[in-house]
Amino acid sequence: MISIKTQQELVLMRGAGKIVAEILAVLKEYTRPGITTLELDELAERECKKRNVKAAFKGYGGFPYTICASPNEKVVHGFSSREPLQEGDILSIDFGVLYKGFYGDAAITLPVGLIDDEAIRLLEVTEKSLQKGISAAVIHGRLTDISHAVQVCAEGEGFSVVREFVGHGIGRQLHEDPQISNFGAPGQGPKLKAGMTFAIEPMINMGLPGVKILDDGWTAVTVDGKLSAHFEHTVALTDNGPEILTAL
Ligand code: MG
Repeated sequence: MISIKTQQELVLMRGAGKIVAEILAVLKEYTRPGITTLELDELAERECKKRNVKAAFKGYGGFPYTICASPNEKVVHGFSSREPLQEGDILSIDFGVLYKGFYGDAAITLPVGLIDDEAIRLLEVTEKSLQKGISAAVIHGRLTDISHAVQVCAEGEGFSVVREFVGHGIGRQLHEDPQISNFGAPGQGPKLKAGMTFAIEPMINMGLPGVKILDDGWTAVTVDGKLSAHFEHTVALTDNGPEILTAL
């Protein structure tokens, strides 16, 4: 069942989303060659403490870190590490908080120093595919209008869409109904209604769409070792169109 949030609940979800955006902005500021993802992880934890919020991922299903740090060929759910980031890397950071009973969830992929043109294009197209998905999240539409919009954008630019991971409803739970695929025909699934809140999150690969899970049981990497990018926003569906709750 897809939960519909009241106006009061949306106020709290805006609060959660704003904090996620603020902390991601801090992490972005510190992401550069030489820093480790473990340092970014600890920074995120301190920023949560400062704001009196709980990091959403740490301990979720046993996930051991505050952020999901997924450089280069890592797609999602990467573990923070002591390995310094290098010039030319890309780094996906997925991060969420629990604030006054409600979750916010967002992801960004950042360049580490100077990156090559094709990597820049991957980041731009992945972010654009998220925007297209969000723009399709309008009431009276159907769920897979979002999926289709993401896929058309990413594949139209010659990239591929990861099938194994999906976006999701969000609210009092980090993962609520429905699951939101990033591919598929439009016009299917539940009708979209005001008060639904979704985490829309395309994961887009430079090469093949396939992924595999590393021995740690969490980290997803591309099967061909090519780059992958991930952008995500928590969005509320309103009578006036989609409202991005994790925008800064
Ligand atoms: Mg998510």
